[in-house]
Amino acid sequence: MNQKKKVPQSKIQTHIKSEDTSIILISDLHLTPESPQTILHFNNFITSLENVDSLYILGDLFEYWLGDDAAYSLGHVPVEKTLRLLSVKGITVYLIRGNRDFLIDNDFALRTGIKILNDPTLHSFFGHQVLLLHGDSLCTDDKKHQKFRSIVDETEWRLTFLRKSISERDSIAKSIRFRSDIEKRYKPSGIMDVNQLAVDAALQSTPARLLIHGHTHRPGIHQWNLNGESLARVVLGEWSEGPSWIQFSASRIELHYEDKVKCLEYGQV
Ligand code: MN
Repeated sequence: MNQKKKVPQSKIQTHIKSEDTSIILISDLHLTPESPQTILHFNNFITSLENVDSLYILGDLFEYWLGDDAAYSLGHVPVEKTLRLLSVKGITVYLIRGNRDFLIDNDFALRTGIKILNDPTLHSFFGHQVLLLHGDSLCTDDKKHQKFRSIVDETEWRLTFLRKSISERDSIAKSIRFRSDIEKRYKPSGIMDVNQLAVDAALQSTPARLLIHGHTHRPGIHQWNLNGESLARVVLGEWSEGPSWIQFSASRIELHYEDKVKCLEYGQV
């Protein structure tokens, strides 16, 4: 018998093993039919979820979103169907919108069975208060991005945008996306990360001592002290090379990215 069983790599990377119930968090998948490998990772990941109480998607699930009526045009219907499977399996899916898919709204929520959360949201996981964000609001040194956020946050801008034809919306989104991609290459890397004062302020405005976000594509666990309190920030990774996720269980938090696992025990926060 051949001992070397060939297991597809995506299966190895995505299998979630857990004896106890856990909560899973993901972000920054940037799903698009143009990257079928990432869609495959996503499908395998979703079907591998076992003993999972809920799944939190912390933004940028899609590469970009033009409004709930444009899902078919952008080829996102298969992803919606995959998400729908989770509610059938009894897993609650929560979504915080990112700077790419900030136009996700109630029709999408109805079709997929997900629940949309505000950015930020404070939730309790196994009795621990956790502050959840996409993360771009913490990147306060990136003034241009903050300006973009304040423009697209306006109801008037959204209504005007959504009244346009899908092809008009597509060209506007492409031009915005194009600009931000070009700028990323030249911006000093420091301003693309979170601002520590913004992180401290976000945590201090809530009872949480732990903050979880994505957006920066800099997965890691950060711990520091502030006014005698031990605080932590866990950052999710992006999915271009494979899945990244956080598994939150009753005893600890595991961050998975690039085949690495980092842990945070509750005693540490
Ligand atoms: Mn983002």
